[in-house]
Amino acid sequence: MKAAILTKPGPVDGNPLSVRDVPIPTVETGYALLKVLACGICRTDLHIIEGELPPKLPCIIPGHEIVAEVVQSPDSTFRVGTRVGVSWIGGTDGTCRFCRLDRENLCDHPVYTGYTHTGGYAEYTTARTDFLYRLPDSLEDAVAAPLMCAGMIGYHSLRVADVKRGQKVGLFGFGSCAQILIHVLHAWDCKVYVSTREERHQKLARQLGAVWAGQGDEVPPTPLDRAVTFAPLSSPSTKAALWQSMQSIWTIYRNSTTTQFSGENGNCGASPI
Ligand SMILES: [Zn+2]
Ligand SMILES: [Zn+2]
Repeated sequence: MKAAILTKPGPVDGNPLSVRDVPIPTVETGYALLKVLACGICRTDLHIIEGELPPKLPCIIPGHEIVAEVVQSPDSTFRVGTRVGVSWIGGTDGTCRFCRLDRENLCDHPVYTGYTHTGGYAEYTTARTDFLYRLPDSLEDAVAAPLMCAGMIGYHSLRVADVKRGQKVGLFGFGSCAQILIHVLHAWDCKVYVSTREERHQKLARQLGAVWAGQGDEVPPTPLDRAVTFAPLSSPSTKAALWQSMQSIWTIYRNSTTTQFSGENGNCGASPI
């Protein structure tokens, strides 16, 4: 099969990924063999490719926003031909302190798709059957792929922040997660306020229906009910704007690195603060 393989991380300008012919991966116990239909590109893929996340294997096929068709499966739930999704978390131990608290995104012994296990920049890949997602027919492959990471962790953050229909919701940062979430929030009749550094993202936020879009350190013009931040909280001005925008101490949810909680869960886990 053809696959994009990373052997030596480096700046993307230097094309560290090389497309090669490699054997179709061997299927381990508990795994399904999948034919990849689409695979999105996530910021974490860039962190892996450029070496900001240290290599775990001598070579790796990245990609963790996978839409695929089951080719071979030990699990009758996912018959041959079923269309499935695969995300960043490709497996957990099920026994650690986090798994026991239903917070498997912080697992002490995780499997990461496209980082510690072969990913989706290939014609075929494998994935644990208990970490496959069945996808509705209504979603096209390329539309479903980004939901496997950006959409999934963004939606999780809305649930943790307990966003209710019709509320005023602030999004701090407007990358791929927030660009998906704004559609969910509109479907929930929420008013969306976006604070983001980049002018092009402010413009895009207005185009996508934000009632207000301003600088990353600007306080939205009205008190918010809920806020989700996708931006690093290292900036005191962003932090101040975030806190000032809340009418009281509601849930603020940070969708960013989980390093401080579990060591190395990368950027695609999600953790409450
Ligand atoms: Zn665990
Ligand atoms: Zn990701």
